[in-house]
Amino acid sequence: MRIAVIGAGPAGMTAALQLSRRGVDVSVFEAGPSVGGLARSFELWGQRVDLGPHRFFSTDARVNRLWLDIVGREYAMVDRLTRIYYRRRFFQYPLKPLNALWNMGLPDAAMCVISYFNEHLRPESPRTDNASFESWVVRRFGRRLFEMFFKSYSEKLWGIPCHELSADFAAQRIKKLSFSEAARSALSPQRGTRHTSLVDRFAYPLNGTGSVYEKMAERLRDCGGQVHLECPVRRVVHEGFDVRGVELQNGRVKQFDHVISTMPLTNLVRGLDEVPADVRASADDLKFRNTILVYLHVDSDSLFDDQWLYIHAPDLKMGRVTNFRNWVPQLYGEAQTTILAVEYWCDDSDPTWTASDDHLIEQATRELQSTGLLRDQQVMGGHVVRVRRCYPVYRVGYREHTDRLADYLRNFRGLTPIGRYGTFKYNNQDHSILMGILAAENLLDECDHDLWSVNTDHEAYQEAALITETGLVVRRFVRHEASDDQVQLAVRT
Ligand SMILES: Cc1cc2nc3c(=O)[nH]c(=O)nc-3n(C[C@H](O)[C@H](O)[C@H](O)COP(=O)(O)OP(=O)(O)OC[C@H]3O[C@@H](n4cnc5c(N)ncnc54)[C@H](O)[C@@H]3O)c2cc1C
Repeated sequence: MRIAVIGAGPAGMTAALQLSRRGVDVSVFEAGPSVGGLARSFELWGQRVDLGPHRFFSTDARVNRLWLDIVGREYAMVDRLTRIYYRRRFFQYPLKPLNALWNMGLPDAAMCVISYFNEHLRPESPRTDNASFESWVVRRFGRRLFEMFFKSYSEKLWGIPCHELSADFAAQRIKKLSFSEAARSALSPQRGTRHTSLVDRFAYPLNGTGSVYEKMAERLRDCGGQVHLECPVRRVVHEGFDVRGVELQNGRVKQFDHVISTMPLTNLVRGLDEVPADVRASADDLKFRNTILVYLHVDSDSLFDDQWLYIHAPDLKMGRVTNFRNWVPQLYGEAQTTILAVEYWCDDSDPTWTASDDHLIEQATRELQSTGLLRDQQVMGGHVVRVRRCYPVYRVGYREHTDRLADYLRNFRGLTPIGRYGTFKYNNQDHSILMGILAAENLLDECDHDLWSVNTDHEAYQEAALITETGLVVRRFVRHEASDDQVQLAVRT
């Protein structure tokens, strides 16, 4: 069997590696110049950086086993520190009640508690409470907390009002606020609950997130697989519903028995022949949001301690700041300087998307200075990376469109769409790695995993495990109790 994989991000590389390890002839076609996709790392000013913050976290034993198998001992546990910048103050994240109270002041804190209980005392209305991101969050947290800690950040990220954002996004990324849990954590800050101890440390590869996928590519080549970089696929070639191969951007057609696609779902569908009008219309209705990362090279080795910060302040356009000095020392080596990445989110039509590099670097520097995070240190250089189609926008009603596309694509024999772009899912690395593992199992072991449901269902894993400093620890717990950010008060990207 000859298999083509479109895209060398986490999903594509995982699928390709798993298949080639079992003797399948695999070719990966990647549009960009390196592997890793959105989770790639690269050299900048003699240091290693990622595309913004990339923390790996999973409770799935299959995903963690593979990650450890690839990374070996070349990782370190990082103690997470992330804060929220809002009203010229820094709130600890996950929110710690005493710190939040101190920063908000008593009147606002009282308003938060009152509006929280207001919501909890009124009768539930499943239809309206889950109609949008806004109603979902307000129902569970109260309007005041929604306005302080969800609204401005979410609207910066998605570019649409929160009442137009689907509740699915909240359901995937936030679970619930338990005031009793919050109170317990406030009263026992040193001990750390099981929940905080799981979430506050994460494993990070010494050579950057992208090194995981670089190593996967090496292993793939060792098994006889091929990775073709700067080799974009124009479309999947098919006769009726039988897939025959891929057509490259240069017009060459390559024959394959099966195609695993992580190219944007919308582009995949648009490239097919004789797509029904309603399916095409659904593809046209799905939108991705772009990201601009402005990297600043700062003449200081100790600016602040966070790995990243969320910028909620509505008067600042930036949404998140990463400090690569605070991940692992191997990223910067002997350098005495700091690299920061400032993130802006926009659509193709926004002036920010077409702004010059100089303008963006000046804006990022000015905005950072206004927060005090730069401590008047000199910015010695700037570098801009624009990433198109970064975030699948879960606008109210999007699921009808993705379901229509999925139903249509299920008709094809020899086609497996996976990944963040590929299935229009707001995936983290672990979801995409899992999709890659399951896609390979479907092909090799005649399994029938429904790949469209990964990162949709919040089911308990059959076997759960965590990466610790000593390797894999298998524990018994379910994902919704322990997963990334899920009982914390905020929405994260
Ligand atoms: C700023 C930012 C921060 C993030 N933070 C985290 C985090 O903290 N933790 C975490 O786990 N995840 C994080 N993520 C998400 C993580 O990067 C993604 O979940 C992961 O990279 C998705 O992998 P993928 O393989 O599904 O897709 P991608 O990484 O998007 O890979 C798809 C690949 O397909 C290629 N491609 C597309 N079209 C074609 C074509 N026509 N022909 C050939 N190749 C094509 C692309 O170039 C790309 O390399 C973050 C993402 C961003 C943008």
